[in-house]
Amino acid sequence: MSVIQRDRASLWHPYAPASGSLPLWEVEDADGVTLRLRDETGRRHEVLDAMSSWWAVIHGYRNPVLDAAAKRQLDTFSHVMFGGLTHEPAVELAERLVAVAPSAADRPRLERVFLADSGSVSVEVALKLAVQFQTASGFPRRQRFLSIRGGYHGDTFAAMGVCDPVDGMHSAFPGLLAANVFAARPPAVGAPPGEIAEWQAHVEDLAAEHANELAAIIVEPVLQGAGGMFIYAAECLRILRDIADRHGILLILDEIATGFGRTGELFAAQHAGVVADIMCVGKALTGGYLTLAAMLCTGDVAARVSSGGAGALLHGPTFMGNPLACSVANASLGILDDGAWRSDVARIGSGLAAGLEAANAFDAVKEVRTIGAVGVIELNTEVDVAAVTSAAVGHGVWLRPFRNLVYAMPAYISSAEEVRRMAEGMVAAVAEVHGP
Ligand SMILES: *Cc1c(COP(=O)(O)O)cnc(C)c1O
Repeated sequence: MSVIQRDRASLWHPYAPASGSLPLWEVEDADGVTLRLRDETGRRHEVLDAMSSWWAVIHGYRNPVLDAAAKRQLDTFSHVMFGGLTHEPAVELAERLVAVAPSAADRPRLERVFLADSGSVSVEVALKLAVQFQTASGFPRRQRFLSIRGGYHGDTFAAMGVCDPVDGMHSAFPGLLAANVFAARPPAVGAPPGEIAEWQAHVEDLAAEHANELAAIIVEPVLQGAGGMFIYAAECLRILRDIADRHGILLILDEIATGFGRTGELFAAQHAGVVADIMCVGKALTGGYLTLAAMLCTGDVAARVSSGGAGALLHGPTFMGNPLACSVANASLGILDDGAWRSDVARIGSGLAAGLEAANAFDAVKEVRTIGAVGVIELNTEVDVAAVTSAAVGHGVWLRPFRNLVYAMPAYISSAEEVRRMAEGMVAAVAEVHGP
């Protein structure tokens, strides 16, 4: 039996039925931005990975610097518990994250780090921290969250509860997801000031109405990812910052997808000059090598929770601060240190914008948009995921469309020629399946 046949007999895949009807490819080998695949018939395909394995593999596969960091740590120790023990890789990672986190002269710094095992878990921790902060501040009734439509914050229960209430998974788990407060999706980038003012009034009303029961506002800054690859006016983030401050509500920014340069700033909040009270990072944190995420918060939030009734932040995963993951994260952040990612992201962004432009003329295409090293083709209809993925493999590109979106977020090491071929493959696959 082939690996794919064995897979079909025993594994689940993300958001998939047990006996998958969607096509599967086996990865035999990966390096740089190239994946070597085998399809169900045994045929081999060499494809350029336009997905960076879901935002994560920013420095490419088998990156020599990350490989070396993992091997070095493997020869020292792979894991130890984080209760009562510490180690250099975790300490260095916390220092590095604090050093690069967004800051402003008039705001408290994000200076305390909680290491979590995945993005969803870091969101859970952020939400818990916000509730514990409010309780410690004398507001035990502030246990709900304000979010915006179109958001995605992860698949665990509390995280699902702040995802989009209609397109997210609320209808599948009625009664189990907290009743949170949702504002309308902010106006798109480039929207006229009147539209932004209208949205501002709407969110201000909502926040005022619920202020005494809200612990925090949680949003993805500037670019909403899995909720629709939607780019909104950065000014809306400043509006949320202001609303949070006026009501004593914390601002949680979920930079799990947007962090580490993807949108053209190291963190997307920097497009708006906004500093959060709590920030979550994940995905590209380890350059896509190992599962690791982090929650950062201000010293004031950390101190208030630590001196509150519980006397501690109530969370502690078994694999907290995994040394292998921390070491690779340190190596990945080390690569970003010299700032070369900025021109890489700009090169990829202009390559995607130029290459995807042709799709604008297709009847099936609603819009083409880019931000940083992200390129999106939005269709008027649901994408035929199986057909577009297969067509893209035929054109030498790995894609994973969802809903009505075909999108790319290549690794920062992608050359201009590789980006050109990725964009060409995307446009060709859309034309082949949905018509030019
Ligand atoms: C992917 C993602 C998460 C969840 O991270 P996992 O590591 O998959 O749990 C949360 N928020 C955003 C914005 C994400 O893109």
